Amino acid sequence: MRRIVFVGPPGAGKGTQAATLANSLGIPHLSTGDLLRSAVAAKTPLGLAAEEHMRAGRLVPDSLVLEILEERVGREDAARGFLLDGFPRNLAQAEALDRTTPPDVVVVFELPTDVLLPRLTGRRTCSTCRAVYNVVTQPPKVPDRCDHDGAALVQRPDDRPEAVRTRLEVYRTETAPLLQYYATRGILRPIDATGDPAAVGPRVRAAIS
Ligand code: AMP
Repeated sequence: MRRIVFVGPPGAGKGTQAATLANSLGIPHLSTGDLLRSAVAAKTPLGLAAEEHMRAGRLVPDSLVLEILEERVGREDAARGFLLDGFPRNLAQAEALDRTTPPDVVVVFELPTDVLLPRLTGRRTCSTCRAVYNVVTQPPKVPDRCDHDGAALVQRPDDRPEAVRTRLEVYRTETAPLLQYYATRGILRPIDATGDPAAVGPRVRAAIS
């Protein structure tokens, strides 16, 4: 059983590392951001209720996030463990997770704010397969087209500068207090998240070993 949580500011590279690590460990990568974006795209009642909060860069109310997460964690493929990316994001969510499936290890992605801004505003995502690019540091071979399937690359609405500022502030005030919460339990593993994904990967693996 492995229950891993990734915590870090937006743009820290959690999603990229989570996809690779979950794949190599054979456990599902559960991103509440991805689950919510799917609900928004499908226009479910939950997605419609979450959409405005996400667009503005605020947290979606806990009741909605817990509903979507509990459904996903309850599926069979998560019975042997999971990698949570983007959850918990505040103390109430951490306490809810502890009541059902407490994590074994919490990896914290550390990097300076001035590195985060260009990562977020330059980020582009494939509209079909969700592959992630950056117009400066990781451009696609053909501008605005996915290397894998040629589909259009899009900017997330919450990667626009106004929403990015709100997301960084939300991280500082609501999510960062979780670090102390997990540190006192002895399961916090901070890593240096600067550099490209190939440099960060081994640090993540060392932190969970
Ligand atoms: P992410 O893809 O993790 O950056 O999440 C994108 C957006 O989805 C966030 O800015 C929030 O609006 C929402 N979101 C994702 N995960 C959570 C969560 N655990 N709690 C509240 N809102 C969330």
